[in-house]
Amino acid sequence: MTQMYKPLMGRNPDLQPELWLVVGKGCVFHPEPDQWLWRDNQRFSECHDAVIGHYDGKPVAVTFQKDVPEADQTPVRSVLALQDEGLTLLLSHGLQILTAERDHRYCGRCGSSCEGKTGEWAMVCSRCRAHYYPRISPCIIVLVHRETEVLLVMHNRHVRENPVFTTVAGFIEPGESAEEGVIREVLEETGIKVKNPEYCFSQNWPFPHSLMLGFHAEYESGEIQLDSKELCEGDWFELDKLPPIPPGFTIARKLINKFIQS
Ligand SMILES: [Zn+2]
Repeated sequence: MTQMYKPLMGRNPDLQPELWLVVGKGCVFHPEPDQWLWRDNQRFSECHDAVIGHYDGKPVAVTFQKDVPEADQTPVRSVLALQDEGLTLLLSHGLQILTAERDHRYCGRCGSSCEGKTGEWAMVCSRCRAHYYPRISPCIIVLVHRETEVLLVMHNRHVRENPVFTTVAGFIEPGESAEEGVIREVLEETGIKVKNPEYCFSQNWPFPHSLMLGFHAEYESGEIQLDSKELCEGDWFELDKLPPIPPGFTIARKLINKFIQS
């Protein structure tokens, strides 16, 4: 059954955890198959990790364990693929808080140690009081269409493990609007010029801290010329003849589905 997750908007050291989300490197460490959280348990009650929110109404803490038994771990992506909304939110939030704490243990200005600030998710320098907030990196992800065809590409890094065709995506550069990022990324990666980028919806993607801004955009001109450093294949596909595409919980798939329905 899907449970609700409500994130806290900052640390509250007075809250005692009743549940623990335990993550290892790229995986969730869980007590039973299909049971993702640890209940009051000697092993984690010693941990001093902050409560990050409420799951099923109970305060939940997130903690990182370096050595996780193989039998009791599931890859984070497989947990996300379950499409359990509360669990996905908890995992995304927890991973990003852990990443922010790991990346801001020391002050980038003076090198002193940082500590978690009460009431916020910032890490604060113990000496110069500089604040470091969890980083959120905006990316664009765009479905390009040309009449009834869509432009889909395959990434070099996906070929061996998971050979699917997907939409074009990339980070927004400093000084750039999201719409400018759409036009630049599609041109850089595929040689195609697009127009009229239209924002659809967004998705948080905690690898490690992306906010994916989903767009549709119209073909304007050009022939496909792939950036071979990133992509190994790319083509126009008719909607009734799509190649293998990403699963339903991904924003890429939602962008494709939205276009099919339009
Ligand atoms: Zn400092």
